[in-house]
Amino acid sequence: MMNNLHEITLLVSKCQNCALHHSRIKSVPGEGPDNARIMFIGEGPGFHENQQGRPFVGQAGKFLDELLSVSGLKRETVFITNVVKCRPPGNRDPQPEELEACSKFLDRQIELINPEIIVTLGRFSMAKFFGQVKISQIHGIMRKIGQRYVVAMYHPAAALHQPALKSTLLDDFSKLKKYIHQVESEREIKEVNSNKYNSIVVEKKEDEDTPTQLSLF
Ligand code: SF4
Repeated sequence: MMNNLHEITLLVSKCQNCALHHSRIKSVPGEGPDNARIMFIGEGPGFHENQQGRPFVGQAGKFLDELLSVSGLKRETVFITNVVKCRPPGNRDPQPEELEACSKFLDRQIELINPEIIVTLGRFSMAKFFGQVKISQIHGIMRKIGQRYVVAMYHPAAALHQPALKSTLLDDFSKLKKYIHQVESEREIKEVNSNKYNSIVVEKKEDEDTPTQLSLF
């Protein structure tokens, strides 16, 4: 069960675990490489996403592409999904029971992809990691939660309704570029230390082997 992303896509396409399946045209499981280091989690599919079965393809998706380029990212290198995989009718908020029913798919996607950084887009994906906080207080700030980093951002669609948020989002995504460099540096340091440790272990093992070999003669 759900051994890879393809299996999740198949299960989501047939899923009837919540009321949202009644009105969906296409489910939107998410897309991107299964080893993406960065994962974006939005709210739910909108009109165009429901038609095409792909995440962030409407106006908000165009703005997300602009935001990704501000962070130095290309869409094809990141994984993009939503907290609910089927469109809430009329773009209403997903209901608690719908979020709960769909969470097993998102949780398994996170486990399988194991991203270094999760970027939440909007209130619902933020609440999954940060609980009941105000997005105005924590947006754009990277926090370590468990084994990975999480950054809460406003949803790109919010900037289409409130133009003032556009510059906030552009600022926050430019910070994301710095966070990505920070996490990459941490990973490189860990890898160097791990290589050093492995070479010490090998050297020690060779030292330990020497007396045994000598004793044979
Ligand atoms: S939103 Fe999630 S739980 Fe609900 S029907 Fe779609 S895939 Fe299933």
